[in-house]
Amino acid sequence: MKTGLDPIPPDALKAEHEGPSQILQTLIDIGRIITTSHGLDETLGHTVDLIAERMQADVCSIYLHNEPSQELVLQATHGLNPEAVGQVRLTAHEGLVGLVLEQGAPLNLTDVSNHPRFKYFPSINEEPLSSFCGVPLIEFRKTLGVLAIQNRESRLFTPEEETLLIAISTQISGLISKAILVDHLEKEAGKLDKDRDAREPERLEGVPIAGGVAREKVMILRRTRLAEPEYAARQSPQEEKRALQRAIDSSEQEILALIRSLTARVGEQDAAIFHSHLLYLEDRGFIHRIESLIDQGASGAWAIHHVVMDYLKTFQSLEDAYLKERGADLEDVGHRLMRHLGVAKPRLLGQDRSGVLVAEMLSPSDTAELDPTKIKGIVTSIGGFVSHAAILARSLRIPAVSGIENLIERIDDGDTLLVDGETGVVFVNPPDSVSKEYERYQKTRIDYLTHLDDLRDEPCCTKDHERIQLYANVSLSHDLEDVTQYGADGIALYRTELHYLVRSSPPSVDELVEFYSQAVAAAGDRLVVFRTLDLGSDHMPPYLSFPKEDNPFMGFRSIRYQLSRSFLLRDQLKAILRVAHLGQVAVMVPMISQLEELHEVKRIYRNCRAELEKEGGGPLPEVKLGMMFEVPATVLMSDLYAGEVDFLAIGSNDLTQYTLAVDRNNPYVNHLYDPLEPAVLIMIRRLIETSRRAGKTIMLAGEMASDPEGCLVLVGLGLRELCMNAPLIPLVKDRLAQLTLEQTQNLARVALDSTSGANVRRNIRMFLQQYGA
Ligand code: PEP
Ligand code: MG
Repeated sequence: MKTGLDPIPPDALKAEHEGPSQILQTLIDIGRIITTSHGLDETLGHTVDLIAERMQADVCSIYLHNEPSQELVLQATHGLNPEAVGQVRLTAHEGLVGLVLEQGAPLNLTDVSNHPRFKYFPSINEEPLSSFCGVPLIEFRKTLGVLAIQNRESRLFTPEEETLLIAISTQISGLISKAILVDHLEKEAGKLDKDRDAREPERLEGVPIAGGVAREKVMILRRTRLAEPEYAARQSPQEEKRALQRAIDSSEQEILALIRSLTARVGEQDAAIFHSHLLYLEDRGFIHRIESLIDQGASGAWAIHHVVMDYLKTFQSLEDAYLKERGADLEDVGHRLMRHLGVAKPRLLGQDRSGVLVAEMLSPSDTAELDPTKIKGIVTSIGGFVSHAAILARSLRIPAVSGIENLIERIDDGDTLLVDGETGVVFVNPPDSVSKEYERYQKTRIDYLTHLDDLRDEPCCTKDHERIQLYANVSLSHDLEDVTQYGADGIALYRTELHYLVRSSPPSVDELVEFYSQAVAAAGDRLVVFRTLDLGSDHMPPYLSFPKEDNPFMGFRSIRYQLSRSFLLRDQLKAILRVAHLGQVAVMVPMISQLEELHEVKRIYRNCRAELEKEGGGPLPEVKLGMMFEVPATVLMSDLYAGEVDFLAIGSNDLTQYTLAVDRNNPYVNHLYDPLEPAVLIMIRRLIETSRRAGKTIMLAGEMASDPEGCLVLVGLGLRELCMNAPLIPLVKDRLAQLTLEQTQNLARVALDSTSGANVRRNIRMFLQQYGA
């Protein structure tokens, strides 16, 4: 039997250059089975056939664990008596499959008949089988069942075969967990078909848009598309155009206010969706076309409707799903303008009670105004996963399903809807049995979340007690509340941009002192690292001037910009120094790409300090100065920089984009962006080595710190300080507690040896399965 510490043979993990490896090809084929089969039984049936063929096994079977009866039931088989499916049942303490379930670990045996746990079933034609290899099927840390292969010949399955089986079980576990639920629901839906009454329960299938489950009374929003206004203008073209200009101005004001309020609610990244709405209003081509129609005698409202509809046709003819969805933004802008001209009404109903909102479509503005404490779910006919309305629904954590045809006709006021935002299924007036099944499913998730909550006050450690510091990053004022709530060890990345972005002039030093002291107070006696301004690229406050650049991410951003407006840097450094006596404070500088930049920052820092000490008449407490490694050139020259700073910080989001030459915000190349690409991991390893040589601490901030695979690799590479969104801290704690330091190091080695980010992830999952984690 394999122990948790046996390394997986590297060759079994790699996709060879000549073509996909056996593992990869089998996983691809299973993926195909999953997408083309109908129902759980068919999927599992095809899967066992495929595994048996690829692994030249005489038998391949899947047993599922039936929780209520605590039994393992044979669910699919290739090679055993097909009539035994559904009939063979064992308790979790019986047989070899019971042992795999009990131990949650693989079992590989040459001769089963000698094993004390072997149980003989006369009805299933198992007699001639000697060798056995079984692996658990695990999802949400719960063992769902067992996948096993058997051969007549007495032999030990090779490590490669065992690895393949683990990889397959990882791939199919998530599917099985969902399929069990869906299967149950389909059976319930079948029962529904049999006894339909006047107001029939119904099961509708759409596209999952935002995860989670909701069950509430329906709220129907009927008119959501633009209606065509009257053609003829009631006033002169000049007056129509003046009214149009007023509508544009009011719309701009309204959108700016919406961006501000949304920034505070869901963060600036999602709020930035509405920047594109401002761009339409500033687009001379768009406005000019409307004005030309007005000059020909059309009313402003008709002209807007006509131009918007015309553009929409173009958007809808596009192949690209992302671009297609951008039409909804234009329609939204058109509706807003028409509302300011007095020809359209606000679309949203009063949200005075809880409900599931049903509409043909929702615009981004409609969605932004939803109150998630009232609107528990969203169901629409139109709107894909990448629409801005969908992105906002996910940020607001409202379960949503789209793509249901003739939706409004199929739902009545008074109906109750159960929305499953994960599978895309909507039940109209679900019977109790269906609701109960969902409650059970939700409970499993909630139990897991409660387990995470229990970890809050525990320090983060690996299984063998190696302490890892998990810090929070803070981008919005309300993130401060999360620091203690999720048990962070401090704040290692305080993004200071927000105080500049949501205003019409830069904050004064006194105002900054006020903001920063709130952060130090929220951290208590724990560390707070303020990062100096990272403006430019996608962060441009309207009152500061920025050039128009072809490649803003490679251009005038971050410390480059701040050094050119050095009053911004001086004000920040002074405010940070002034709050230093309140707690443990440090400062770090983003996007350094030249040594001179660092020298200049240090010079300004020394001057600010001297100035304040002179004014205050005494020495200020120590404030450590660090730099962020986000540019590959600085990584390659890291020894030089490390000698100049008190600590090193890795900004993995930017380091990934610059190492891979992949714009982190560009949906066209999103599939190429992965911080687990070995090239990025090599950069990180190099920085860790530098920090050791220099005797300086090193921390990593960036999305990969909270990535389920990323956090393990980072610890294995040698990092002991990670910074992430605070709500993810318990998840990372749970993850790290499942492995020893040595296991994370094995994992990091495999990651560095892999050929791509996708391989790294696949290999890690296999490793974890092998470790039973
Ligand atoms: C990073 O680049 O990884 C980082 C932490 O900074 P930001 O995401 O703010 O650019
Ligand atoms: Mg960055």
